[in-house]
Amino acid sequence: MGERPPPDPVDYDLVIIGCGIYGSQVARTYLSIRPGRRVAIFESSKTIGSVWSRERVYEDFWTQVPLSILEFSDHPMQDVPQEDEYYGFFKAKHVTMYLEEYCRNKVFNGQPLDSRILLEAPVQRIYKDGGFWFIKAAKSGLPTLRCPKVPDLPNLSQFQGTIIHHKDFALLETCEILEQPKGIVVIGGAKSAADVVYSRAKAGHRVTWLIRKSASGPAYFISAKGMVGSQNSKATLYTKLTSLFFGSIFAAQMGFNRISRWINTSEIGVAVLRKTWQDFNARALAEADYDRADGKENGFFNLKPDTEFFWQNDSTGIDQRPDFLDLIARDTTVV
Ligand SMILES: Cc1cc2nc3c(=O)[nH]c(=O)nc-3n(C[C@H](O)[C@H](O)[C@H](O)COP(=O)(O)OP(=O)(O)OC[C@H]3O[C@@H](n4cnc5c(N)ncnc54)[C@H](O)[C@@H]3O)c2cc1C
Repeated sequence: MGERPPPDPVDYDLVIIGCGIYGSQVARTYLSIRPGRRVAIFESSKTIGSVWSRERVYEDFWTQVPLSILEFSDHPMQDVPQEDEYYGFFKAKHVTMYLEEYCRNKVFNGQPLDSRILLEAPVQRIYKDGGFWFIKAAKSGLPTLRCPKVPDLPNLSQFQGTIIHHKDFALLETCEILEQPKGIVVIGGAKSAADVVYSRAKAGHRVTWLIRKSASGPAYFISAKGMVGSQNSKATLYTKLTSLFFGSIFAAQMGFNRISRWINTSEIGVAVLRKTWQDFNARALAEADYDRADGKENGFFNLKPDTEFFWQNDSTGIDQRPDFLDLIARDTTVV
């Protein structure tokens, strides 16, 4: 049974529960894309950071991962004094200071991130009603917040068509609405979007696939076929042999074994590593053939990954169907 919504909920676009490392990053990511949106972060404690918060950190609490790894990529950690560092590990209080400074310094729409944090506000109840979440914290004076279950888009109210979220697609796939010979726009560049694009293009719809340029771009689509005798491409990527070629900070420093150390640190090894991934990349691009003639007018080239496979930091997609890329090149407009 759904609960009765309170009479005066305050509307937010995003409500985050908990301001540990993850909560602060969710807020930062969302506000980087939509700086003007209303975001609230409920934190039950008096200070942010959870494990790393002022309340919980004591002088002899040290980190378990080294300095260069415990910082966000968009904000370097200040130098840690030598006496607080031991072989790259360091006192946890520097993470506390770093997180607090991070939330103070990230400013969106003139408002620092930390001004959106509600401290000593443990969320007590959270429930869904209609298209909304209702969130109530056990703090006197704080109203119930309301935010949409599915993020909305600017000027959505002016859109005349029907909007379907991917989570409801399975329910609606066989419904009338998708039987109509209307154009379909799919938003997003990763696997779910790719699956819906394929499903609709296969069913004969005219599909336009919209992928935002300012984010990480389209997923890197690789063939389902395996290499070096493995059954499929995932099996190729996750063998012990392939793992030697995943350059990692730790592998570079100490190596899993002599071979990985050699591959990650010696001049010849690094050249072999580079060449291996360049070949993998070239093969994936050649198979997809993003510049093919029949896809030019449709913008098929927009699906070309903007980084090499080794460096890609967005999602990977598998071409599980033999006609996946051909169908998109021919029958889908990619923008
Ligand atoms: C002693 C110790 C040492 C560690 N050392 C390392 C390390 O060196 N390196 C490393 O990477 N990881 C380490 N970890 C793991 C650490 O847990 C994670 O790095 C990190 O803190 C996880 O962040 P998180 O945001 O996912 O969750 P959390 O840090 O757990 O954050 C969750 C937040 O949600 C809040 N919250 C929970 N319920 C509610 C509610 N109902 N309403 C409002 N707020 C709520 C909590 O107060 C908390 O602030 C260590 C953990 C411990 C315990």
